[in-house]
Amino acid sequence: MSSSSNSFETNFLLKKNFEIVSIFLDYSDWTTALKQVFALVGEHVRVDRIYFFEFHTDPVTQEELTSQRFEWVKNGIEPMLDNPDLQNLPVEIAADFMRPLQDNKPFEAIVRTMPEGNTKEILSSQDILSILVLPIWIEGKMYGFIGFDDCTNERGWKEEELHFLQSITSNLSSAISRRNAMMEVEKKAKELIRINQELEQFAYVASHDLQEPLRMISEFLKLFEKKYADTVDEKGKTYIRYAVEGSVRMKKIILDLLEFSRVGKTKSAMEEVDLEELFNSLKLLYINKIESRNAEVKLINPIKMLTWKSPLEQVLMNLLDNALKYAKPEVQPKIELRMEEEEDQWLFHFSDNGIGIPPQYFDRIFVIFQRLHTKEEYEGSGMGLAITKKIIENMGGRIWLESEHQVGTTFHFSLPKLITR
Ligand code: ADP
Repeated sequence: MSSSSNSFETNFLLKKNFEIVSIFLDYSDWTTALKQVFALVGEHVRVDRIYFFEFHTDPVTQEELTSQRFEWVKNGIEPMLDNPDLQNLPVEIAADFMRPLQDNKPFEAIVRTMPEGNTKEILSSQDILSILVLPIWIEGKMYGFIGFDDCTNERGWKEEELHFLQSITSNLSSAISRRNAMMEVEKKAKELIRINQELEQFAYVASHDLQEPLRMISEFLKLFEKKYADTVDEKGKTYIRYAVEGSVRMKKIILDLLEFSRVGKTKSAMEEVDLEELFNSLKLLYINKIESRNAEVKLINPIKMLTWKSPLEQVLMNLLDNALKYAKPEVQPKIELRMEEEEDQWLFHFSDNGIGIPPQYFDRIFVIFQRLHTKEEYEGSGMGLAITKKIIENMGGRIWLESEHQVGTTFHFSLPKLITR
């Protein structure tokens, strides 16, 4: 009889344990999850109060403190959560019950029979008759403890109850460490967003403010060139030419940086874009280069899509510009843009038969100012692909590439299908 009632109880507690694990696994709100778990445990182990204390360090004195963070009480029992005496308690104040916890053992007592002292006083002041406290350990360190008070009976704890409560405590530690890890990730994500915004702001302010002094330098260089052309010797003229070229390059860098920092800031309304029309207008912009190199520029399977027109135009312009720029000198450039529709996204494949990119540089080329060539070999600021990537990611897409050195390159990018409402 007793063994069957025992096994009934054990099964019952196991079932409850399972319920509790489920609550901890899919909680979306930590306080609600704790409330549910503590209420479930409280009712089934028949206690009057369950609470959770956390250890922390005083930021000024570095003293080890403990504070009550959460509490469940049975109807009619006085809550202690707002009791200021249970916040920021020095850990050693209740040394007699801390000691077993620090050895990863439970502390269990009938308050009346306890030796006189701090602990007995604290417990009696809360009308506690019996108490069980279990330590919460996380990653080899004591994180806090969970306490169970009985204010109605002087009681002991059955072995299966103790096991049940120990297993609840260990589930609680896993839930706490998962929650801490999640909060850490959220904190890092917020920090990254903040750093990113600061960098963008810096890039914007720096590039914006540099424009004016640069304009002055180029204007005065031009004036100097005009006025003193006859008095300066050939060497002097070369120096001035270098300085003018430098300021032109710097202007391009500043404008690119400004553009990079502005990506995504001003989103105009979406519109239906005809890719054939858009691509033909881009080809017109590059007609001189296309004709001088006798380049073949093909569009395959053009689509019409709902999107933000000008950022997409900027992306295609950067890719076309690069495909023409990095063509092989003695070979007819063959450039092709192919589009593909998938269920929830558009795919673009932009390929050329140019000089190609060695695979070890596939990531680097998307970083601002990163170039694989000197300005003497190919003009450029190293910003084109960084801007392209930022635009695409801002529109919810992704960009990647395939390339073979001296054979050609294909940039692939995806754009999600957007819905107007
Ligand atoms: P930029 O062209 O101003 O140098 P980008 O950011 O547009 O800057 O490109 C970064 C680098 O990637 C270039 O310096 C070039 O080495 C390489 N690259 C980009 N597009 C191509 C391409 N189609 N073929 C070969 N190399 C390319």
